Amino acid sequence: MRRPPMPTPPSVVIAGAGPAGMVLAYQLVGRGVPVRVLEQHPDFEREFRGELIGPSVLPALEQLDLVGTLVERGLARTDVERQMFVGLSRRVTLPGGTERGAVISQPGFLALLHERCSRHPHYRLDFRTTAMRAIREGERVVALETRREGATDRVDGDLFFVCSGRQSKVRKDLVTLELDEKPDDTLWLRFDLSDAPHALPSAVEVHMFGGGVVVVLSATTRSRLQVAYSAPGDVGALRKDLPRLRDALLPRIAEPLRSILAAKLDEHTESQVLRVAIDRLARWHVPGLMFLGDAAHTMGPAGAQGLNLAIRDSIVAANHVLDAIAEGRAVDDTLLAAIEAERRPEIEAAQAGQLRAYGMVQKRLAVQHVMFTILAAVMKVKPMPGFVSAPVMPKHATRA
Ligand SMILES: Cc1cc2nc3c(=O)[nH]c(=O)nc-3n(C[C@H](O)[C@H](O)[C@H](O)COP(=O)(O)OP(=O)(O)OC[C@H]3O[C@@H](n4cnc5c(N)ncnc54)[C@H](O)[C@@H]3O)c2cc1C
Repeated sequence: MRRPPMPTPPSVVIAGAGPAGMVLAYQLVGRGVPVRVLEQHPDFEREFRGELIGPSVLPALEQLDLVGTLVERGLARTDVERQMFVGLSRRVTLPGGTERGAVISQPGFLALLHERCSRHPHYRLDFRTTAMRAIREGERVVALETRREGATDRVDGDLFFVCSGRQSKVRKDLVTLELDEKPDDTLWLRFDLSDAPHALPSAVEVHMFGGGVVVVLSATTRSRLQVAYSAPGDVGALRKDLPRLRDALLPRIAEPLRSILAAKLDEHTESQVLRVAIDRLARWHVPGLMFLGDAAHTMGPAGAQGLNLAIRDSIVAANHVLDAIAEGRAVDDTLLAAIEAERRPEIEAAQAGQLRAYGMVQKRLAVQHVMFTILAAVMKVKPMPGFVSAPVMPKHATRA
């Protein structure tokens, strides 16, 4: 771990206080880099989001001294396994299908990063502030135009990271997509099971029922159960048709959970339709500005990877930026290109893996049984790329 004295660092602006933005902010701020974060929401309470941190990220978060605090606060459950099933009960091994990791509360995680960053005077986070577009001088981005409570403003800086996720406004103006796939949408439901905690699954369970139907059960840190239901067709319409939703979902959940959810599933159940996208920018940077996380490469829910890959992007980006500052090198387009070059192969493999997984779940149930038997045998000899990655670690100690 290096602790060199730092020359004057650039002032960094980060659009989006999600996992990519806040993990990046935490690492930079902890090394003396001035950071201003812009977040459109008024707080960290978020819609449905990924909560499973896998083994490719957990060691880095432990090194950054985050996991222990989350566990102490009851905001993380460690040693959680992700299990794959064909149908209700046949356990199968898929690429990455038996990972162990930690389920974290995303709001709790982001709030902890903000709390730690706030100890430093050179950190600022503006809630309710939406980054609208990049302002350029010549080729170089020199500011972001923002909207806050109806007023337009601009935020200047030396270096911009756009971490504003899959709906990123800034990306639409600046860059084009080289991959743009739209697999079946997913309906997310959330149930409060604090009255029946014994029924919460200890693992994250992925059940495949053939013909594109997948049900994922995942207990969150607050005794709540997230249920994701993916199927061909309009899951948005299904959400509005309670009898049809009950018929589609409940038979695909094993007892005793089925009866508990049957009693709870009604028109007040928290829900959200996720328009699933797997996309990737042709180029992740322009002079002065770089996209990271879902803003650079939106991931689908398959394999629970988007959160992990977003955090890995930020660790790699921080390593490059802090290396350059420490060595007195310019934080310029060459550096942004180096970040993209390091991250791109893993992202391309992961997205190809997700598209393969979506192809697999479309098969009929009987075909899936055969397919996963063969796959498990093949994988013993030759692991498939795209799901399992070695950890990336922060190179610079963060002074919390
Ligand atoms: C329903 C759902 C379930 C998922 N399940 C999993 C899972 O189980 N495992 C997994 O690994 N991944 C999962 N993912 C994916 C994972 O949540 C994302 O890949 C991950 O959150 C990406 O992090 P990010 O920081 O890049 O973007 P985001 O988490 O999307 O964060 C972007 C942030 O930017 C803010 N923002 C957006 N636009 C602007 C703007 N113009 N100006 C300022 N701020 C802005 C947003 O409010 C948000 O706070 C899921 C995603 C969804 C939607």
